[in-house]
Amino acid sequence: MSVSITYWGTRGTVPTPGAQTARLGGNTACVEVQDGNGNLVILDAGTGIRSLGKHLLGRKETSGLRADIVLSHAHWDHIQGLPYFAPLFMKGNVLRVWGPKQGDVEMETILRQLMQPVVFPVPLDALAATLEVLHVNADPITTAGCTITSMRVRHPAVTLGYKLTMAGGRSVVYVTDDELGPGGDYDVGPNWRQRFVAFIGDADLLIHDAMYTPEEYDAHAGWGHSTFVEAVELAHEAGVKRLSLFHHDPEHSDDAMDVIVARAREEAGKKSGALEVCAAAEGMTIRL
Ligand SMILES: [Zn+2]
Ligand SMILES: [Zn+2]
Repeated sequence: MSVSITYWGTRGTVPTPGAQTARLGGNTACVEVQDGNGNLVILDAGTGIRSLGKHLLGRKETSGLRADIVLSHAHWDHIQGLPYFAPLFMKGNVLRVWGPKQGDVEMETILRQLMQPVVFPVPLDALAATLEVLHVNADPITTAGCTITSMRVRHPAVTLGYKLTMAGGRSVVYVTDDELGPGGDYDVGPNWRQRFVAFIGDADLLIHDAMYTPEEYDAHAGWGHSTFVEAVELAHEAGVKRLSLFHHDPEHSDDAMDVIVARAREEAGKKSGALEVCAAAEGMTIRL
């Protein structure tokens, strides 16, 4: 059974619209994963989720939409689009939002704050859709089309990477914010790299943070993000077939990203095996 992965937001940190970013897009993180039966998982709710909502409303089976929205963490660029996700405002839709608890703070509390009357006109309780906010713990998430396992990654706050294993056996790993370099001090436990590589396994597609060039990294060590070289090395070590560079730096124009992709492919070419590398772009669909 086919799986399609569509990028609705690929930018990190802050929306970056404009002529310089028109090709890869300026919306923040949001990825749609759909199996051949139309079962839907949405990874993160950055500003890209607004366009996804409009797209879903354009489908025939608009009413009665069911979807799992899985949040990596609660930084703005991963939740800010949620109040603008149109299916939330339609009766009959059933949406489950999953995310890691942030210390003692419930994900539901964070989403309530996101929609407090002083900052947004419609509170969480007034939504027409049925919305359930659930915590991700050590147990896998079971959805209609896939099983999702998670692992803590190296990023400030409690941030999770996710592996979606589809009913047909295909797998996608989504790790949007993660520092593979030496900077930072993260509460991720011993032998993290080894466990992380095993977690990714030989996924059919790895979507990974590649925010910086190696030249930029030193000035940003400890900020919780990786270079494209580190993302390529990780993909190679885990034996994945395809890598999408993700969470593009707001300062990287499309032209700058062309250079990054060329350099990333050059890095991949130095390794054995055939790793396909691309930059995630708004509107791009990858089929597995
Ligand atoms: Zn981010
Ligand atoms: Zn973050």
